[in-house]
Amino acid sequence: MIKRAILFGGKAIVSVLDTTTLVNTAMDIHEFSPSVARAMGKALTMTAFMSGNFKGLNNKLTIIIEGNGLSGKMVLCGDYGAKVRGYAENPQASMDKDVPVSQVVGKEGYLNIIKDFGLKEPYNGMSHLVNGNIDEDFAYYFTVSEQLPSAVALGVDIEDGKCKKAGGVIIQPMPNCSEEEIVILQDIARNFTDVSKTLEEKGAQGIIDYYFGHFEIKQLPDIYEEYKCNCSRERIENMLLTLGKKEALDIVEKEGKIEVGCEFCNTKYVFTKEDIERLFR
Ligand SMILES: [Zn+2]
Repeated sequence: MIKRAILFGGKAIVSVLDTTTLVNTAMDIHEFSPSVARAMGKALTMTAFMSGNFKGLNNKLTIIIEGNGLSGKMVLCGDYGAKVRGYAENPQASMDKDVPVSQVVGKEGYLNIIKDFGLKEPYNGMSHLVNGNIDEDFAYYFTVSEQLPSAVALGVDIEDGKCKKAGGVIIQPMPNCSEEEIVILQDIARNFTDVSKTLEEKGAQGIIDYYFGHFEIKQLPDIYEEYKCNCSRERIENMLLTLGKKEALDIVEKEGKIEVGCEFCNTKYVFTKEDIERLFR
């Protein structure tokens, strides 16, 4: 669940996310090791946050976190309404559960965010990783790439192969926010050192009430994020059509079938020789 409140008459916005269910769904699909689950949980939370803010039905984004860490590249996609999906190159990297997120992601590399608003050119923003902890990497990205200095605090608590609590608090002052108001927000942001624990204790609404309730706030409608893939047999068929009949039949000849797996949801699409012949007819 994503809760959002406008502060100071529109000069800042706070978003509080509880993404526990989302992270558990991703863990079921990808069988992440605990350490990768913590990193991917944070990345999925940010994907839900950013795609939850979309205003157009056809808006979508891709986030690529390419660090030199254990998980390899992480790729995440978000569609309007916080429909998200993602994968890591090495989902089972390091079974040691005490490996910090920065080691899973890697301290060096870049964060690339492509936002497609259905216009001619998608918006393409890039920044280098600050420390591979994801929180600071996104905060830095918002500052340098979107000119929106933000406080980002994320937390994912994994216990016994399950996500106990996951979520985040993101505070974004708008350009017209005063120095004084920014200092107030920075002071509040210092409270979020262990977001999953604070979420566990207070809940998403509780965090808004407790830390921001004394301001005049205007709460926006809740958003319900969801793990949702957009793959289909038809999409794979179109891919095979661009491959060409000869190529496709060659593979069937060699392998006995064509099997295409979706990296985002692990669905396997199988095509027999008859399928391929029918497709190209
Ligand atoms: Zn899929």
